[in-house]
Amino acid sequence: MTRTDVDVAVIGGGVVGLAAALMAARQGLQVALVEAHAPKPWNAETPDLRVYALALDNEALLASFGLWQDIAGRRAYPYAEMTVFDEVQASPLHFHAGELGRGHLGHIVENDLLVDVLWQAVCREPGIRRHCPERLAALDNGAECVHVRLAGGAEFSARLAFGADGAASKVRQLLGIGVSEHDYRQKGVVAFLETELPHRHTAWQRFLSTGPLAFLPFGERRCSIVWSLPEARADEMLALPPEAFCRALDSAFAGTLGATRLLSTRTAFPLRRRLANDTLKGRVLLLGDAAHAVHPLAGQGVNLGLRDVSSLRDALQSAKAGDDALDLRRLQRWARTRHSENAVAAYAFENINRLFSNDNMALSLVRGHLLGLADRLSPVKNAMARIAAGI
Ligand SMILES: Cc1cc2nc3c(=O)[nH]c(=O)nc-3n(C[C@H](O)[C@H](O)[C@H](O)COP(=O)(O)OP(=O)(O)OC[C@H]3O[C@@H](n4cnc5c(N)ncnc54)[C@H](O)[C@@H]3O)c2cc1C
Repeated sequence: MTRTDVDVAVIGGGVVGLAAALMAARQGLQVALVEAHAPKPWNAETPDLRVYALALDNEALLASFGLWQDIAGRRAYPYAEMTVFDEVQASPLHFHAGELGRGHLGHIVENDLLVDVLWQAVCREPGIRRHCPERLAALDNGAECVHVRLAGGAEFSARLAFGADGAASKVRQLLGIGVSEHDYRQKGVVAFLETELPHRHTAWQRFLSTGPLAFLPFGERRCSIVWSLPEARADEMLALPPEAFCRALDSAFAGTLGATRLLSTRTAFPLRRRLANDTLKGRVLLLGDAAHAVHPLAGQGVNLGLRDVSSLRDALQSAKAGDDALDLRRLQRWARTRHSENAVAAYAFENINRLFSNDNMALSLVRGHLLGLADRLSPVKNAMARIAAGI
């Protein structure tokens, strides 16, 4: 076996890359982590507009690192119910954690908080060497090892590299891995709001012909929203004065939580589906948004990325005593499974978005009934609730 400087090079220290670095180090591997920006410490006074509906399986992953208590103790809001309803028909689809024998379905957590807690854990971990702030410049994906060159001139070799450098992944570009891409021509408008009525610890989603609108509980009478809109309409909403914005929002949400009041700035992010054609090439594997960026309608973006990490941990742990945990055949099996699961999820979200985000009369009659029907069919409803909760 060729001698390398480290076992694993992790490129990108977002939520997924940090979790992957920690996971690998906890398997006894020597890790080098490369991240372009030094993470800024989480600040309770200025909540990050990018929040996640973190599913139960990913809470369990963070708990297995010994980090969940710290995250929950700082700021994580549980949601015990989910209500999905349509613009045209009134019959909603409603999940309750109790139906799954659970106390909650997940937690709403800020991206900055997850990054901060994971980063601190990475800094404490003896098996992880950090290169930050540093950028990947070149990657030689050899038969025996991966050679990494950084923009600052440092070089090192690793048995494997994990590309976790986000949707515009440089790792993916350097390896020449193509993507199948779809531009939804929508933007996701995000903000924090105060609501007149209590949110009842429910994650709400209303499907509109312009795109889905989600209200996620974020404190007493406070919600975070993700409002998917056609690009021009999203820009219009960002330009409106706060009161006019809230009136448009309340109308889009059918006044479900009463009148809203804006508590933060607003921003919008472009919505694209981007699926890498390969999850593993040679000795480099792709994780998180580098491998799959999806529509936010099911709040699964970061959940899918963390599932890449937990399933990779399971694959490494499946090595028998004396076997090489980084055996490429084992990793190829992992990559095939993740690629198909992520593709199924990405296309499912796309088709749901297509079905609901249009004003075709025939479709609008069908879809409202579909939600009501799914709500009455216990096995279907139970399966959907389990997928959403990650159990
Ligand atoms: C505004 C917004 C709202 C969102 N809302 C939701 C939501 O509600 N629910 C949800 O599930 N998902 C949401 N998403 C998607 C979610 O943010 C992503 O799925 C998630 O961040 C993916 O994590 P990641 O670690 O794979 O990538 P990223 O978070 O993009 O992290 C990639 C990291 O790689 C680093 N990097 C990039 N290039 C290099 C390089 N050349 N060298 C070194 N480092 C590099 C970057 O600095 C970054 O830290 C949202 C996204 C945005 C932008």
